[in-house]
Amino acid sequence: MKPSVGLDLGVFGRRMRTVLFPPVCMVCGQDGRPEIDCCSGCEADLPMLAGQCARCGLEMEHDVALCGRCAMALPAFQGTWPGFSYQGVIERLITRFKFHGDLAAGRLLADLLARRLVELGAPRPDLMVPVPLHVRRRLQRGFNQSALICRDLSAWFGRLPWSDSLRRHRATAQQSDLPADQRTGNVRGAFGLDRLPPGVRHVALVDDVMTTGSTLNECARVLLQAGVERVDVWVVARA
Ligand SMILES: [Zn+2]
Ligand SMILES: [Zn+2]
Repeated sequence: MKPSVGLDLGVFGRRMRTVLFPPVCMVCGQDGRPEIDCCSGCEADLPMLAGQCARCGLEMEHDVALCGRCAMALPAFQGTWPGFSYQGVIERLITRFKFHGDLAAGRLLADLLARRLVELGAPRPDLMVPVPLHVRRRLQRGFNQSALICRDLSAWFGRLPWSDSLRRHRATAQQSDLPADQRTGNVRGAFGLDRLPPGVRHVALVDDVMTTGSTLNECARVLLQAGVERVDVWVVARA
């Protein structure tokens, strides 16, 4: 059994956060908690998956090892750990983060994901790798949301290493603008791997939203081709 991830922001880190940012719940505006900008009531109300496919994270009535789609074509990644379902408060926070540049919303999403990954017992990888944006979109947005999530998860998980080793060298059509059956072709060959720190066998790919999983599957394929033995997927939300 691989050890699971555990929270370790450090006492000093938590104290500094409380001093610098008095805790306020970003969802309801009431008092937050020292460790996270979300009250316990709002955290309990976040949209969760009823059950999921262990492989691709697709929401199911109950947990299953493989959904019908995965049984037909196994994804390159080994398993998916979605924090939440892509709806309600989570969807609104992601919109604030990605399209309105609200970095505090992004930090809260990463904090919430960190806590869910611990609850779910996600195995600790050697390295986190964010799903890359094409350089043009990164410049438009000013940041890669997945890289910021990695940075915050790293702080929670005792400086778990992360590296933006993947490159999107072809500007692909926005996946959300394409029907599901065209998404795999759209991303095939779109990613390259720059460099990987030595000794990395187990990678967690990190993204904000997972829809069909075509992009994550292609990223996982590139990592496995480069000699990584296992790729897991960590996403804030599963659509
Ligand atoms: Zn609240
Ligand atoms: Zn599946």
